[in-house]
Amino acid sequence: MNHKIAKFGGTSLANFEAMSRCADIVLSSQSTRIVVVSASSGVTNLLVSLSTGSLSATQRNDAIAKISGIQSAIATHLELSSQQLSLIDDLLEKVGDIATSIARLNVGEEQVRTQLTDQLLACGEQLSSTLFTQVLIERGVNAHWLDVRDVMRTSSDFGKATVCIDTVAQLASERMTPLLEKQVIVTQGFIGCDTQGNTTTLGRGGSDYSAALLGEATHCSQIDIWTDVTGIFTTDPRITAQAYALEEISFNEAAEMATFGAKVLHPSTLIPAMRCNIPVFVGSSRAPESGGTIVRNETESKPVYRAIALRREQTLLTVTSMDMLHAPGFLARVFTILAKYNLSVDLVTTSEVSVAITLDNTGSNSGGNSQISQVMLDELEEVCQVTIEKDLALVALIGNAIDTSYGVGTRLFATLHDVNVRMICQGASSHNLCFLVEERQATDVISRLHHAMFEQNARGVA
Ligand code: ASP
Ligand code: MG
Repeated sequence: MNHKIAKFGGTSLANFEAMSRCADIVLSSQSTRIVVVSASSGVTNLLVSLSTGSLSATQRNDAIAKISGIQSAIATHLELSSQQLSLIDDLLEKVGDIATSIARLNVGEEQVRTQLTDQLLACGEQLSSTLFTQVLIERGVNAHWLDVRDVMRTSSDFGKATVCIDTVAQLASERMTPLLEKQVIVTQGFIGCDTQGNTTTLGRGGSDYSAALLGEATHCSQIDIWTDVTGIFTTDPRITAQAYALEEISFNEAAEMATFGAKVLHPSTLIPAMRCNIPVFVGSSRAPESGGTIVRNETESKPVYRAIALRREQTLLTVTSMDMLHAPGFLARVFTILAKYNLSVDLVTTSEVSVAITLDNTGSNSGGNSQISQVMLDELEEVCQVTIEKDLALVALIGNAIDTSYGVGTRLFATLHDVNVRMICQGASSHNLCFLVEERQATDVISRLHHAMFEQNARGVA
């Protein structure tokens, strides 16, 4: 069966009206057979606040009241079955119970906390999926609520579980595929379950990734990601009003964008889609008629400049040692230390006796730990001198054949004639050119580059 998957993000499910728009979207496409939902907007953040264990009993009750307020505002528009009502009540009660248990934990019970946190966070998607299933049913859709934990098998790394792709494929073919012919499956993004039956989560914003994984597992023809923007933009429209939505972008370009700071898609989302060559559409559930961006393997156009991404809060670590002069193995020593402390290195430039490295400081990068600890610095200082610079931002120019097109440098440096470019990386990929500037100049730099490369007659041409 040639089905599509629709994933709705939190803002798309924020209230009954928003959910109704999503129902229109499902109804408008016969082939949409799997719906993956996030928690209603704000709910995961409230659950995260409860998971810290640092709220007072009053603050806890406030947070729980807010969550239940969001759900009941939606529920009043629906004729929920007694089974659905008791499921919602149970979930809200569970939120209260887990929050209290977490608040009572002692120092040193970190393992228990992370495990309970995943159970707590999972309630958001369970609530929204129950409600959205009913919205669809009342609109005449033969919707079937599925607990994704029956399919999404993961490791036991609570908070950032790794998905067991083969098991998911097998479980999906047993438990989802047979239903697709007649029903629309509504299920939860973001959550999974380990082999012992413990609830896990895939990391914040992980619902996109869930949708892509289920798309891969059920061999879907397209994954539609419905969010609050009309696609992937040339750059963040909050930086420049001249930014515009792209009609298409390749997997490689989009992966660079997600990695280098664009928030539209979760960075892991594209991995399953690329693996199976499934196109991903990104559009706004508020304005589906405005279209959106299609992300696919081969794009019709391959402009040199496709987009500009910004990642703030960059730290530049420069390590220097005279031992490096003609000596093999120095880089290996430095990187071994960084790996030991689980630091995720982004950019690297080298000179004869120095190496400059950026580390992701936003915590959004895949699994790396962005904190530079004193112990790690001590260890590095045994082999080299270390300098740390902060308040930098990484600007990534994304496109095609950037490494072999003439004129990129001319355009770039002419635009940045009065800007201090602290570091520049180009050549490893034909899809990007990255550089570091002072954080305070970053948005101005992007507006100017956007003007020079994407506006007037420039639209993407080198
Ligand atoms: N609800 C989760 C979060 O806010 C997952 C998601 O929305 O993708 O992080
Ligand atoms: Mg979300």
